Amino acid sequence: MRLVILGGPGAGKGTQTRQLCRTLSLSEVSTSDMLREAIASQTDLGRQAQPYVEKGELVPDPILIQFIRQRLSQPDIARCWLLEGYPRTAFQAEELDFLLEELGQHLNWAIYLQVSESVMMNRSLERSRTLQDNAINSRLDDQPEIIQRRIDLFHERLPLLLEYYGYHKRLLTINSEQPPEQVQQDILQKLTV
Ligand code: AMP
Repeated sequence: MRLVILGGPGAGKGTQTRQLCRTLSLSEVSTSDMLREAIASQTDLGRQAQPYVEKGELVPDPILIQFIRQRLSQPDIARCWLLEGYPRTAFQAEELDFLLEELGQHLNWAIYLQVSESVMMNRSLERSRTLQDNAINSRLDDQPEIIQRRIDLFHERLPLLLEYYGYHKRLLTINSEQPPEQVQQDILQKLTV
């Protein structure tokens, strides 16, 4: 099975991804993790992406698409995977389909974790506070104004992204304001129907 998971900051993408990957034995491919690792180790790609990530802006498509192409072409990626953090735009979604066609694969479902803007903001602030309380490096893009910018960007791109997957009949919308276990159950139930 091949899945992508869509949702704004604090929608629960990370939690649901980890759980789904365990339950369904999928390889997890997280663009944000890849970007953060690349920035921390100051690779070429990391240096190019850094100014965008720090401001909460989308990293330009050509960089991201190259990244995904490399990752999904690697042999260790089983044919079952879950992409988290990509696509964020309808353009990226289309590019993913082109790439999969080349690789002889196809996407089964796009799972959209739906939460209100206030839930996104509250959960993101809470995560940022927890990181600070535990003296774990707080991320530059976890500051309130940057979180707001990430939420705004998400809402700007969302309608076309949902339209893309809706049109191709591959969209599953899940209420992600429920407790994480319930969200997981809803996803699994819709995947097997
Ligand atoms: P996240 O933690 O998933 O909100 O991602 C953190 C940051 O990584 C975003 O604010 C963007 O700067 C960058 N990023 C992650 N995924 C993408 C993507 N698909 N396209 C462009 N930028 C991305």
